[in-house]
Amino acid sequence: MISLTTQKDAREVRDLPFCYICGNRFDTADSINYDHIPPESIFDIPDRNFPLKLSTHERQCHSPMNLDDEVLGQLVALIHGKQPSERNDKLKIDIYQSTDTGSLIASFSQRNIELLLRRWIKAFHAALYREPLADDTKFAIQTPFPSGTIKNGQLIEEPIREQHYKFVECIKRNRVAGNLDYIETNNGKFRYECVWDKLSDNSWACVFSIDLYGWKDLGDINNFQPRGCAGLYNSPTGMVPENASKATRLEFSIANSDTADPFGS
Ligand SMILES: [Zn+2]
Repeated sequence: MISLTTQKDAREVRDLPFCYICGNRFDTADSINYDHIPPESIFDIPDRNFPLKLSTHERQCHSPMNLDDEVLGQLVALIHGKQPSERNDKLKIDIYQSTDTGSLIASFSQRNIELLLRRWIKAFHAALYREPLADDTKFAIQTPFPSGTIKNGQLIEEPIREQHYKFVECIKRNRVAGNLDYIETNNGKFRYECVWDKLSDNSWACVFSIDLYGWKDLGDINNFQPRGCAGLYNSPTGMVPENASKATRLEFSIANSDTADPFGS
């Protein structure tokens, strides 16, 4: 089991010899910058210590994408601008046209959130296992924000995928077994947990869950079932990182009343 929960732990991974974004080792000529993951601006001032920071190439990899800025702005507003009385207004779902399919999507920039989370997960993988996560890694991510499409003038919610419930159960089961790798930073406001499990085709994958300021309740919970953030990524090499936690094979019953929330009861 690997954990990163203290400032000392965080310092140890700050200067890894490779860039967590592109995966290449640093050259002496490279100019290097630090990325905060998640970005510092997400956190209230008292929660900015201690952060997870990793090295990146200053020019090619560090500069935040515009995409990130836009999504981050929305996230920060959601997390810190929320007030119960205004909540319904602020969190009305956004309806926009997908550039991929032309379909109308009601969501909180679902696709952008996914891209942002992939970048974060690369960082968590690098921090826990001291190795880069390959670019061709495949992800399945359930974000805490609902999405849907408009059909015949009606909003049809995209259902929470069946696999999400399996990820949630896997995380809860392995938490009970004391069998998760995890990162806790930013005054406990950020938490990442994961465990490696064998899929039905015998390949290895990492099942993970992410909490940030209890963000499962930030989506449009009046119109949609709240869901926590969980997902899976495959191991491009087919290998499990050294010392990584592997899922328990033991059968035992666990509390799981909120089946969509990895951090719930
Ligand atoms: Zn790089």
